[in-house]
Amino acid sequence: MRSTLYESEVFGMACRQFDRAADLLNMPADLRERTLYPRRCLSVLMPVRLDDGRVEIFEGHRVQHHLTMGPCKGGVRYHPGVHIGEVAALAMWMTWKCSLLGLPYGGAKGGVKVDPSKLSPGELERLSRRYMYEMTPFVGPQVDVMAPDVGTNAQTMAWMMDTYSNEKGHTEPAIVTGKPPEVGGSLGRKEATGRGVAHLSRRRLETLKIPANRATAIVQGFGNVGSYAALDLHASGVKVVGIGDATVSFHNPAGLDIPSAFEHQTRHGSLAGWRGGDTLPNAELLVQPCTVLAPCAMERVITHENAPKLRCRIIAEGANGPTTNRADEVLAARGDIDLIPDVLCNSGGVVVSYFEWLQNLANDYWTRERVDTKLFEMLDAADRRMGERSRELGVPSRLAALTLGIGRVAEAKRLRGLFP
Ligand code: NAD
Repeated sequence: MRSTLYESEVFGMACRQFDRAADLLNMPADLRERTLYPRRCLSVLMPVRLDDGRVEIFEGHRVQHHLTMGPCKGGVRYHPGVHIGEVAALAMWMTWKCSLLGLPYGGAKGGVKVDPSKLSPGELERLSRRYMYEMTPFVGPQVDVMAPDVGTNAQTMAWMMDTYSNEKGHTEPAIVTGKPPEVGGSLGRKEATGRGVAHLSRRRLETLKIPANRATAIVQGFGNVGSYAALDLHASGVKVVGIGDATVSFHNPAGLDIPSAFEHQTRHGSLAGWRGGDTLPNAELLVQPCTVLAPCAMERVITHENAPKLRCRIIAEGANGPTTNRADEVLAARGDIDLIPDVLCNSGGVVVSYFEWLQNLANDYWTRERVDTKLFEMLDAADRRMGERSRELGVPSRLAALTLGIGRVAEAKRLRGLFP
């Protein structure tokens, strides 16, 4: 039976992606449902005291998609648009991503319906501690390990780790990843997702025989993922001609000064007020000409309406779920754009989160060089597997990646059988 618990546009989109892959895998109906649906979720209403003395109630969720391959793993999002259906879709994508990369995790995701820019640091700390307090019976280093996502960062993770550790009576760094290195975070984690996006984009440029210094890029979203992706592409000689965040977008065909934009964003928290290029409406950023288009913000920004107008050679999906099902069809029909799907393209973050978890469990900390070498090895290996599968089945890269990710989970479920 198809459950309506998570009904929403984005969950429907993740289900349609799943169905296409499951069809290709000839997955039997009973295994299909078990593999598709999240195992469990916890929703909470959290009272938090604001600085002016009032108490506000915030809605929070955590969805654990699978416990079949090991603990669940996934970020926590603070955003006004958070909805349990979106959280469930993001948890599902995390499962396929971890499986594709060969990580011993199932997927999870958390979210709080809040605009973090409207809260003071003290309010954010109280909200984050409350969220982790509510989740404490539901998570654990061998059950479910959180990480940053949209609207959260290393500081959020430090508060959450501290809260969990106080509840347990001992320091437990492995309960979250993406922490500051001073409290057990891994070197290279903060940059990992964006650097992975840049690395895989360069790999595609090599395949297409386009030298980096003849390529251009546009990056939508200038938070953790987008800013490091832009910085890394810029450092390797790619001319970044467009960037944007929720507040403003900039374009300059001669190239933007990305280190300056990065410094502005670090100091002010957004690109608003930066003076480095001509501004243009956010919706127009994606359709400007470029070699690499990297959506690194939110879901469902490449649609059947703008997909025919894209003027790029490569799409590097830094965000989760940036391309709708109908846009995928348009891109497949066009056939002139190479797509690096989200489950591979932004997996650098969870790969280094995995390294962080290993380091925490072993109390043995790695050099930056060891992190980077192993990260790029794992991304390249998954990229190769995806390319081989795509050629073997004659299907687009997203479908190839999903059949690998979904197929491994379904096979593990079949082998483990049903309990009790
Ligand atoms: P973030 O909060 O650090 O940054 C989000 C950025 O997107 C901000 O610059 C924000 O202004 C911008 N943005 C939001 N709405 C926008 C809109 N409508 N138009 C243009 N820009 C908009 O978040 P992040 O961690 O960089 O995550 C971005 C995406 O990458 C999300 O889809 C997230 O799930 C995915 N992701 C993040 C990680 C990670 O390690 N942080 C890992 C894998 C995937």
